[in-house]
Amino acid sequence: MTRIGFLGLGNMGARMAANLVKGGFEVAGFDPVEAARTRAAASGITPTVSVESAVSGADAVVSMLPAGPQVREAYDAHVFGAARSGALFLECSTIDVESARATAANAAAHGFAMVDAPVSGGIAAAEAGTLTFMVGGTEEAFARAQPILEKMGRAVIHAGASGAGQAAKVCNNMLLGISMIATCEAFLLAEKLGLDAQKFYDIASKASGQCWSLTSYCPVPGPVPAAPSNRDYAPGFTAAMMLKDLKLAHEAAKTSGAATPLGAHAERLYEAFSGAGGAAKDFSGIIRFLPKAEL
Ligand code: NAD
Repeated sequence: MTRIGFLGLGNMGARMAANLVKGGFEVAGFDPVEAARTRAAASGITPTVSVESAVSGADAVVSMLPAGPQVREAYDAHVFGAARSGALFLECSTIDVESARATAANAAAHGFAMVDAPVSGGIAAAEAGTLTFMVGGTEEAFARAQPILEKMGRAVIHAGASGAGQAAKVCNNMLLGISMIATCEAFLLAEKLGLDAQKFYDIASKASGQCWSLTSYCPVPGPVPAAPSNRDYAPGFTAAMMLKDLKLAHEAAKTSGAATPLGAHAERLYEAFSGAGGAAKDFSGIIRFLPKAEL
């Protein structure tokens, strides 16, 4: 049986680790928050009191941590010294491309293979084991990671070399942030023009304005019953998380010299929405803020 050391048993990680247990792996998990460890234990994960005790003896380490600094710290200060020779590292958090590449290079310098494998899909997909993984790393590392990732997701796609998974994630989420704002603006304009929201949905969903933000995550209540707009914009995917991803996109655009003016504008709008009390709301809740936006 493959043994997994799992780091980060938060909203996503606890559910992903539980699916590894269901998939037949033996999972030891660490999170500094005691309540997270207790919850994870109820899903069959063996809780540990340190990173070292979770990863020593593991064939593979999976991490689902908040951001780049926590990932660098966990691997540089703890994992590399404690993991057993030949262990594979699967880093699934959403972090900056630079941190992903640097951590994978440090892993290689210590003799370990590593993939960056960020996910698309929120808590519901993590729970159902239907996440999409976008993976960066060598062909060999991808082939080793695939059977583990398949227990937590429905689609596992090799994006390219180290960092390519994070690159795909940041580009996808910039597109999502922009398309959500565009969808909200279209509904707000339709309303001012006296056009019924459901009628506009029926037309745009079959016309050239069709997009995921409209047909899977409609920001006005009614047309898509499962969308957060029907439950007062309870997340889902918070505006704070969207802002984090737009900042990562901005940083990546700056370092690579790409022109992303709409991405930058979307970041400013999500910053303003978050600052005005929207941070913990679903990101589609920006529809309520846009009429007041001064940008
Ligand atoms: P979360 O804050 O619920 O969980 C992160 C967990 O990591 C926390 O429980 C924290 O205590 C723990 N942690 C911090 N340092 C640690 C360490 N050194 N060792 C072990 N655990 C440590 O966040 P989340 O919603 O689970 O998101 C995790 C990652 O997934 C983020 O990078 C996020 O951007 C990404 N993501 C989230 C969603 C979503 O819908 N929530 C969707 C896609 C991607």
